[in-house]
This record gives sequence, C-alpha cells and structure tokens, in this order.
Amino acid sequence: MKLKNPTLLRDRCLVNGEWVSGSKGEVIEVDNPATGKIIATVPALSASDTENAIHAAQTAFRSWSKMAAKDRTAVLRRWFTLMVDNADDLAALMTAEQGKPLAEAKGEALYAASFVEWFAEEAKRVYGETIPAPTNNKRIVVIKQPIGVCAAITPWNFPAAMITRKAAPALAAGCTMIVRPAEKTPLTALALAELAQQAGMPAGVFQVITGDARELGGALTASDIVTKLSFTGSTQVGRLLMAQCAPTIKKLSLELGGNAPFIVFEDADLDAAVEGALASKYRNAGQTCVCSNRLYVQDAVYDQFAEKLAARVAALKVGEGHQPEVLIGPLIDGNAVKKVEEHIADALAKGARLVTGGKTHALGGTFFEPTVLAEVTQQMKIAREETFGPVAPLFRFHSEEEVIAMANDTEFGLAAYFYTENVRRTWRVAEALEYGMVGHNTGLISNEVAPFGGVKQSGLGREGSHHGIDEYLEIKYLCSEIA
Ligand code: ADP
Repeated sequence: MKLKNPTLLRDRCLVNGEWVSGSKGEVIEVDNPATGKIIATVPALSASDTENAIHAAQTAFRSWSKMAAKDRTAVLRRWFTLMVDNADDLAALMTAEQGKPLAEAKGEALYAASFVEWFAEEAKRVYGETIPAPTNNKRIVVIKQPIGVCAAITPWNFPAAMITRKAAPALAAGCTMIVRPAEKTPLTALALAELAQQAGMPAGVFQVITGDARELGGALTASDIVTKLSFTGSTQVGRLLMAQCAPTIKKLSLELGGNAPFIVFEDADLDAAVEGALASKYRNAGQTCVCSNRLYVQDAVYDQFAEKLAARVAALKVGEGHQPEVLIGPLIDGNAVKKVEEHIADALAKGARLVTGGKTHALGGTFFEPTVLAEVTQQMKIAREETFGPVAPLFRFHSEEEVIAMANDTEFGLAAYFYTENVRRTWRVAEALEYGMVGHNTGLISNEVAPFGGVKQSGLGREGSHHGIDEYLEIKYLCSEIA
C-alpha cells in the first residue's frame, strides 16, 4: 500500500494527544480481505488504557465545551480540509483494509469529510428558545448544552464515514469523543486521528482506541463519565450495548440492521429502477445497512425487470479494489461468504430460481459472484435476515396493498425504496412504509444534509442534518422569577 503521505499509516492509538501502544503490549493484525495478507498491526489496548482515554476526554471537555462555537468551527474546518486533501490516501487505506473498490473508497472519504464540513457549520447554530410564561412574573428560556464525554463504536463497512457522522456533531456541540473502530478497519480511523492532530485538535478531544470489542466496549459502557454512546452495527450487539448502558442511563444513538425492501411497481421507469437496484444492492458488494435486501417486483413487469437486472449484474467486474474498473470487491471475511451461501442455498431449496451468479468467484478467497435469484418468497431466510452480500432476491407481488404488507413484515425499519411514476401512489406508499428513510425513484439516499436513521429495531436517533447535532446536546430550561 503506497501512500502519498505515509504519516497517515499509524500503528498506535491516539490517547490524550499521544500515540500509545497500550499497557498490554499486544497487537491486532489487520488484513487485506482481497488477499488475506497482513498489512499492519494496531495495539490491543486494555480496559485501563480505555479509562485513561475517558479521563483525558473528561479533562478536555472542560475547555473544549467552553470554547466559542466559532473557534470549534475553525478546528473542524481544518480537519475537513485535510480530509479532502488526503482523500486519495484515505481511499487507499480503506480499499486495503476493507476491500471496497478505490472509486467507492474515494467517494466515502469525501462523504466522510462532508459530515465534518456540515457540522463545522452547524456548530454556530445551536439555537435555544424563549417560551412565554404562564404567569407574568416569570421568564422562561431554553438553552442547549453539550452532553459531555461521548463514545462511539463503529463498524467495518464504512471505516471513515461512520466515524465522522458521530464525531463531527459531537465535537461541534462541544463534546469530546472516544472512538473504538471495528478491529477489521482500524487504519482509516487512526488516519483520521492523525489528520485531527494536524488540524490542531486539542489533546483528549478526539481519541481513537483499538482493541478487543468486549473489553473496550465494556469499559466505555460501564463508565459513569461517558454520558453518551453512539453505535453502528448489528441489532444483536446494539441490544447488548443498550443493556450495558442501562445502569448508567446513558443517552444512546443506535444505527442497527436493516432489511430494505425495494419495490418496483408496474408503472415504474424500469431502466431507472434497474440502475437504482444496482446502486442500492451492489454498492460495497452489498455490505451496507441500507442496501436493498428484498426486491419486490409487480407481476406485469417481473420477467422484464429480472432480465434487464441480470444482464447488468452479470457484467459487473469483480476483483481487487485497487484494479481499474472493478465494481465489486471481496466480502469482508469467510463468515460473510458463509452467510451469503446459506441464504442462497435456503432459497434454492425452497423453490427459488438462480438467474445469474450464485457461487464463490473464480478469483477465490472471499470474492463472490454478483447474484440474482428469482421467485423468492417470504418463507425464505433471505426475506427475514439481512444478507450483507451481493445477492438480489426478486419477489413477485400483485397489488399495492399486498406489497406494503410484505415490505413492512419485518422487525427492521431502516431504509426502503420504491419506483413508480404515479404521484398519488407515491404519497400513499411513502407514508405507508414503516421505515426511517424512503427513496422514491432513487437507490441512493445518504448524504450529510438529511437525517439518517431507522425505526422499529433498526435503531434510535438520527445522524446528519440539523437533527444530528441534537443527539449530542442536552436541553436546559431556565425559569426566572422577576417580580
Ligand atoms: P458487523 O456485523 O457489522 O460486524 P457488529 O455489531 O458485530 O456488526 O460489529 C459492529 C461493531 O461493534 C464492531 O466495531 C465490533 O467490533 C463491535 N462489537 C461487536 N461485539 C461487541 C461487544 N460485545 N461490545 C462492544 N462492541 C462490540
């Protein structure tokens, strides 16, 4: 892995402004999922190292929260600019440790930076309110204050963006933030820490700690200094962390699993729907929580849609992400491949038809052929669980009512997509879908200006948009008696 700026490849953690190896002296190996080769090691910090970071964050909070918002903005702006200037290196790191194609990785680097830019601007707009009092002798004012020391536990599928989406609003609000990135993708996180240092972020404001999930997660959630946890990952781990946060009543933001329906009505622009399905299903090799997981296609256009989609899917180039024109990288690990195989086998055994793909790719390793399955039904595993791989299962439906019921028949409620040219149907369907985010005639919905988040068991809270900073603010009500 060649970086233009080699200082971005860090093999130590950033705690209290220092690069540390931790008290245990142990390391975690980071591999390249495309080759299986070890590319770096990072420290395995201990619970007591985590305590040190928490205390540093507490000390840093005193001054960072007192800084004028405009001054925090200046630091965040510098961080943003450095992320943009170093986007190629951030992309190279992401492709190396996560596997996504380089162009996608560069897109993520800029997307990650966009949250820092946005919240640098929002830092100056944390407005309060005045409320007319019920009696004339009182005045009521509401102010918003930073919640305190925050922790983030982030996943491997977006090694940069899942960090900035949490850290940027926290720091903008005046909070301090400790990030524990996924063990598979710590290098991007440490590079962001290096850029934060270069931006002049004071010690203890933004810290990155790597190590065992349970040990570090345990220390962060048990601490009564940490007042807020923001987590992105599986619903299962989200539930566990929520329980671990119960004794200290921490505020929580949870961005958990999805099982996104993608509905194609007979009055849709089919070519646009195929493009949308490609973008929403096969991005990051299907490893995003908003990836469409169930494609419902209306009877009249089912065969035509299946044919058009399969032709495009069969042409997607699979390979190592640094190679030109590659659109599908490797899956993250062997377990991911197993899950995809299990979902396909279960569907085929219960009557689904393989249209294209269906097995591990000739390249070997964790490369998997982009796949389309037809005649999939609600009884198959793939209808219930997030596949997190490059498999598009096509379900058949007859009526709008039926498809809404099928689409909502899940405990998840993150993202949903539908394609129709009919205006009345657009409103009916958008309102009936029990999801936090709905894409109409588009398969791409994520950006920094809109509120990202789910309902039901897909999570709590919203990230991005002007709502995103509220997750890191407490409301204080001041009542003043003046006569
Ligand atoms: P994924 O399927 O994306 O790996 P996980 O929920 O397993 O989803 O992981 C998301 C993040 O949560 C990762 O950083 C992982 O290391 C971390 N994690 C997993 N288990 C725990 C745990 N018990 N406590 C704290 N963090 C955890």
